[in-house]
Amino acid sequence: MNLSQLFQRSVQLYPDCTAVICGNQTRLTYRELDQRVGALAHWFRHGLGLQPGERLLFVLKNCPEYIESLLAAWRAELCVVPVNSKLHPNEIAGMAGDAGARKCLSHGSLADSLREHPAIHAQLDVIDTESENYLTALASPYLPVGGSCNESDLAWLFFTSGTTGRSKGVMITHANMVSLALNFWADVQPVAQGDALIHVAPLSHGSGLYSVPYWIKGGTQVLPESGGFDEAELFRLLDTHHRASLFAAPTIVQRMVRYANEHDVRPSGLHTLLVGGAPFYIEDIKAAVQCFGPKIAQVYGQGESPMTISGICAEQLGAAVDAGDSQLLGSVGFPMTSMQVSVVDGDGHPVATGELGEVTVRGPAVMAGYWNNPQATASTIVEGALRTGDVGLIDERGLLHLRDRSKDVIISGGTNIYPREVEEILLTHPAVAEVSVVGAQDPEWGESVVAFIVRQPDVTVEDADLDAHCLSAIARFKRPKRYIYVSDLPKNGTGKVLKRELQKRIGTFA
Ligand code: AMP
Repeated sequence: MNLSQLFQRSVQLYPDCTAVICGNQTRLTYRELDQRVGALAHWFRHGLGLQPGERLLFVLKNCPEYIESLLAAWRAELCVVPVNSKLHPNEIAGMAGDAGARKCLSHGSLADSLREHPAIHAQLDVIDTESENYLTALASPYLPVGGSCNESDLAWLFFTSGTTGRSKGVMITHANMVSLALNFWADVQPVAQGDALIHVAPLSHGSGLYSVPYWIKGGTQVLPESGGFDEAELFRLLDTHHRASLFAAPTIVQRMVRYANEHDVRPSGLHTLLVGGAPFYIEDIKAAVQCFGPKIAQVYGQGESPMTISGICAEQLGAAVDAGDSQLLGSVGFPMTSMQVSVVDGDGHPVATGELGEVTVRGPAVMAGYWNNPQATASTIVEGALRTGDVGLIDERGLLHLRDRSKDVIISGGTNIYPREVEEILLTHPAVAEVSVVGAQDPEWGESVVAFIVRQPDVTVEDADLDAHCLSAIARFKRPKRYIYVSDLPKNGTGKVLKRELQKRIGTFA
């Protein structure tokens, strides 16, 4: 089955269920959504002249039009290219050029600013989803599901976040997306008709991918009117909708916990916080479970195996907090049902249980390869196994533990130091709200450990306190040689700390 056949099935199964909600203005049933999807798909093909297999760029903040346009693009047998709307126009132009896209969906002032940019103007026709043209297009004839789209066709071209180096286009097929949904229901959370998914994280990334397992099962996509994450709005939505879940990076979870505790509120409709995309530290997991109850699940995936490598469901994570099971809490859970995860050495041979190596993955969620980049594909998918670039281990219980991206490992005096281990310890200090540990060039040691610290509000702390705290738990050589206190950490649109950016800043601090 491909995604457009599956959406057709949902329309047949759940015609009168609510498919999309945004404030008081938009409320579409599956039947109504299908009418819009059919009309837009017709317009994409016959009005805009897009051919099956063509790539259509999405540069939109979260909005209902995003959901219907994704579905319409698949109905029209196009491949969607959702990009982070906060990127610089030059970066967007680079991705469009790489993808060979001619058209781009955007809206409002974002569309205007894109059009004005010479690099975009030269190659992309920007279509405004708030324009008269788009509204008129909704009255186009209805395009039914075609018969020629295969599950091996490209559904989504996903440009990697590019926290290091140039981003690459990850080719995600319809079959990859179906596998994402199956593994989500099996290992993270089943979805029932009417369950809500609130999109506070960008639809261009995890939240958009998770829209699929929700609409296949008759769930409701809830779009905040703000177009993103606003604590007060989110908590209101969580009181309005029942069985409501959201995909959130760990940094969003921290902010939700802070808000709930400051305002002494607990949202009545929260079903599950689906957390992933960056390290979720033990202290943060505990704080979230203490605040919201056993409603926190964790997933580990990457663009190349979207949202689908390993995971822990909310029940397991809650039980682990109750039992003080730090082995489970410090892991990213068990491999998902259809994924085979191994940890290998530099020659690609599996290492012994408990030993560190590179995490590799095989299974139906693994991408078809990198777009127009056979060399990168060949070095990343080796004999059918995806090399994730993440360093980790599988313990005797079968739990996968991640250390760091291999390029983030600090090599000091010839010894490997894993930033995550140091970060986990620093976060247990009461004065520390957020931390990121990076390597700095060091003439004597090659690299030395530097910790960027965001303190809790109105709290001071001395380097010596943090040093003593580290020494109480980890080896002396791992403790930071330097602490730099900052008001916040630079993060990308999906909540990942930009470690390269921090490294560049080291020299600017006296
Ligand atoms: P991206 O391809 O931008 O989604 O980034 C994927 C990378 O984010 C992974 O390779 C990991 O390094 C990191 N990541 C994703 N989920 C987790 C998680 N639950 N815990 C730790 N790191 C994660």
